[in-house]
Amino acid sequence: MDKADALRQLPAVGKLIQSNAAQLLLQQWPRSLVVSALAVAVNELRSHVVEQAAEATIGAAAGAGTLPPDTAGDAVKPCSCSAEEALAACAAAWLEERYRPNLRRVLNLTGTIIHTNLGRAPLSDRALAAIHSVAVGYSNLEYRVEAGARGSRHHHVARLLCELTGAEDAMVVNNNAAALFLSFAAVGAGGEAIVSRGQLVEIGGSFRIPDIMAESGVAMVEVGSTNKTHLADYERAIRDTTRLLVRVHESNYRIVGFTEQPALAALVTLAHGRGLPVFEDLGSGALYDYAAAGIGDEPTVSASVQAGVDIVSFSGDKLLGGAQAGIIVGKRDWIARLKQHPLARVVRVDKLTLAALEATLLDAVDGDVARERIPVVRMITEPYESVAARAAALAAAICSHPLLGPQLRLHLEDDVSTIGGGAFPGETLPTRVICVEAIGHTAAAFATALRQQPGVPVVGRIVHGVNVWDARTLLPDEAEILLDSLCEWAAHAQS
Ligand SMILES: *Cc1c(COP(=O)(O)O)cnc(C)c1O
Repeated sequence: MDKADALRQLPAVGKLIQSNAAQLLLQQWPRSLVVSALAVAVNELRSHVVEQAAEATIGAAAGAGTLPPDTAGDAVKPCSCSAEEALAACAAAWLEERYRPNLRRVLNLTGTIIHTNLGRAPLSDRALAAIHSVAVGYSNLEYRVEAGARGSRHHHVARLLCELTGAEDAMVVNNNAAALFLSFAAVGAGGEAIVSRGQLVEIGGSFRIPDIMAESGVAMVEVGSTNKTHLADYERAIRDTTRLLVRVHESNYRIVGFTEQPALAALVTLAHGRGLPVFEDLGSGALYDYAAAGIGDEPTVSASVQAGVDIVSFSGDKLLGGAQAGIIVGKRDWIARLKQHPLARVVRVDKLTLAALEATLLDAVDGDVARERIPVVRMITEPYESVAARAAALAAAICSHPLLGPQLRLHLEDDVSTIGGGAFPGETLPTRVICVEAIGHTAAAFATALRQQPGVPVVGRIVHGVNVWDARTLLPDEAEILLDSLCEWAAHAQS
């Protein structure tokens, strides 16, 4: 068949859409999209025919999988299928690629619990249910149901936050970065804030304390040195234009060795003696007492409140394990001032966040409940023996699987998990990992395939040329999803 014949034989989209294969597509996708996709597939085939000129026939295109690999994708396999089926498969791949949600679930097998790139804190069942219940219809977001009158969105979680931290009042904004911005602007704009040179932190994504102060209209006055700052350094720097003393928790770094910072209570006494407030960025913000559970030395929010800090801010989706939010707790008058500032509206929190946060706080009221129900708290506190048992069970399930067993070689090793999210720097948790080799594939090729396949992507680590999976960050219902993803890979790798 020559080129002209081949081109003449290309099916018309109008006819193609009536084929059985296209009808299957119509069960999944709207007609308009299927038409576009089939047109793309036919066009691809047309250019291919032109390129391949003499040899190409539609039959060969269908039969030998000669559609260009980038458009045909994995959907077109060498098979005895018809041209219609091949084109429909090509269209299906195009639809999947363009109209599958881009933001989706991935399996985190890295062992980093608060993984910033992977969405930080997975939410509890209670938080998910609360989001659904509040978002599925209308809600009392800014309405006092009993009174039948306008209410405040800050009201919903304020009481719980006060109960959990001992603070007088609380409010919630979009994230902790916003909490800092609002606090500096509302308390310090036009004046000076005093901060230790050992606490001029970069949080990531070019967010630095000095920059955020400048943006919020506060002049930063640095005192002390990188490793040592004394109370007297703050005292000497206080003058008429001073508006607040700032303390930033070293959540994502540590200065060790010859170091000193004044005790929080001493800083508060100094500030209050001069009629100034203390603002503390606590960063990760632990409500659960991890230190008491033998993990790290993270201060709790209540410790800061108890020390008399006027305004304390922290993240909702780090150690607390809730939704992305900036939580601000402290003295009533200062919180009132923050709520009234124009920026409060700019950084205000959304109802989905409030729903998830309130549910998480309800679980945080009791330590045992928090450990059981809040995924971040559970993962951080899960004992080595428990992770090891889960890893062994998972490895056994993979090895004994008829499709996976012959293709993967596994062994278990001791390793460490990290908490991440800029929390507990240097602190690790003993864990047991699965080391995986895919027979006949390099570690990098295997890892890439597991990230790129259509199902749920699997993200692990490669250590010394071996894929390492930490079961600590695999959620309870995810072992099955992992097996499905592996089977998807194995079925493809085998063919
Ligand atoms: C993470 C962090 C922030 C920023 O919090 P987000 O919730 O990410 O905006 C601010 N300060 C410190 C010390 C942090 O660790």
